[in-house]
Amino acid sequence: MEEFRLPESVKDVLRQTSEIANYLWQREWIERNGGNISVDLTDHFEGASLPSHVAYVKKNFPKEAANMYLYITGASCYLRRLVDTIEKASCIIHINNTADGYAILWGGEKKNFVPTSELSSHLTIHLFNKSQNSGNKVVLHAHPSELIVLSHHKIFHDEQKLNHSIWKMCPEVRVYVPRGIHCTPYAITQSDDLAQMTIDAFKTRDVALWEKHGATVTAPTIEQAWDFMDVANKGAKLLLMAWAAGFEPEGISDKEIEALEKLFNL
Ligand SMILES: [Zn+2]
Repeated sequence: MEEFRLPESVKDVLRQTSEIANYLWQREWIERNGGNISVDLTDHFEGASLPSHVAYVKKNFPKEAANMYLYITGASCYLRRLVDTIEKASCIIHINNTADGYAILWGGEKKNFVPTSELSSHLTIHLFNKSQNSGNKVVLHAHPSELIVLSHHKIFHDEQKLNHSIWKMCPEVRVYVPRGIHCTPYAITQSDDLAQMTIDAFKTRDVALWEKHGATVTAPTIEQAWDFMDVANKGAKLLLMAWAAGFEPEGISDKEIEALEKLFNL
């Protein structure tokens, strides 16, 4: 029986995921089993031969998902465990060529492990990314505190104002979250509605801020996904700090913002 060897590039992805999980944990954005991460690894496995003993679990996927390879975190798994024992709290799956089953090729070593119940919604986003040729391979969902607080404020119902308010807090936010935040209305977690609204969000925005819940981002790499969430949250945090100190921040002027947009071709 031949041994299944992970490509070196996949090992790099796993290392980066552990590193980012550490940041997420330090920020208190992945309490308990909060958050989930997936990476479309299909390109990394091009030409790879599967071991002969692979056992497929029955599950229906959209036909376009046939032969995809996906890294995904586990149901009820704690993302903080990705730092030290990533092989227990997450796995790499292969979806068979009839898209009606998946096999765990690597990881999932925790007892009774199954991929997160968000597998379908993550896959929906990956298939959307594929159809758009966006180059986005990572989907990251977490609970960034200040963004969540902002989604409880009435400003959440005025998307343009919310974006202007965080962009004006500091030039970095305008430059590194260039398409801004989508205010995604509250919907029950794992629902098709929420997955669809999130896809719609990514058509125009960098961050989907799920009302009273958390944020979801998609990007080419896990580090770029983290950066969107981190910088967007920085804008929210600065705004809330000004409000908590009892003043409305002056903000970078519209003219100064325009100059930034010109400089960085935004
Ligand atoms: Zn969540």
